[in-house]
Amino acid sequence: MTSEAERKMQFLFALRSRGVTDARVLDAMEKVDRGPFVKGLFAERAYEDMPLPIACGQTISQPSVVGLMTQALKVTPRDKVLEVGTGSGYQAAILAHLARRVYTVDRYKRLVNEARAIFDAQDITNITVFTADGSHGLPDQAPFDRILVTAAAEDPPGPLLAQLKIGGIMVVPVGQSDAVQSLIRVTRSETGYEYDELRPVRFVPLLEGLGKE
Ligand code: SAH
Repeated sequence: MTSEAERKMQFLFALRSRGVTDARVLDAMEKVDRGPFVKGLFAERAYEDMPLPIACGQTISQPSVVGLMTQALKVTPRDKVLEVGTGSGYQAAILAHLARRVYTVDRYKRLVNEARAIFDAQDITNITVFTADGSHGLPDQAPFDRILVTAAAEDPPGPLLAQLKIGGIMVVPVGQSDAVQSLIRVTRSETGYEYDELRPVRFVPLLEGLGKE
């Protein structure tokens, strides 16, 4: 049996060895226990660096990918952040340690309710969770300093580009759902949008409308 301290050390070592080097991101990931976000059969694998199945046929992302995406987003303590694709709520909990306020949306009510229950239980008070089709963004809360999309779109959705502040950053996996996608960072300037291609990734697709559960 490995001790909790050893498990944590291995978890952080895996993150570092895969390129997560930002001290604030590593600190946030050390503080957020992935265990409660993984339920049932796979709970015992929560501290391994791999994606795992969650309810509604979705997945909790691989921790090193969560770290790399968070790092690419360059979140500051003043930021208002939108996450599209709450899933388990793990990524949102990490963002909540780094940002002023986090809004997160998922198309499955069940995932939204489960994530909200974990945030409440852990006294994380700066996250608001909505059931909605996040490809339209959240017009009532816009604009955002940072937007993180954790499902793959064929193109960065127009409403999300429009809801990004000038100087804002969006990180989004782009590509067909059955192929390897590219993680893209979009930076909005006074004059337009700049696109950087960061790395290949694999995410579940960004789908239209609400889920059934
Ligand atoms: N960030 C999550 C992992 C997300 S998996 C975590 O930390 O666990 C991708 C999620 O995106 C799924 O839960 C899926 O339901 C959601 N999703 C897909 N299309 C969506 C849409 N149009 N609007 C909101 N959520 C969407």
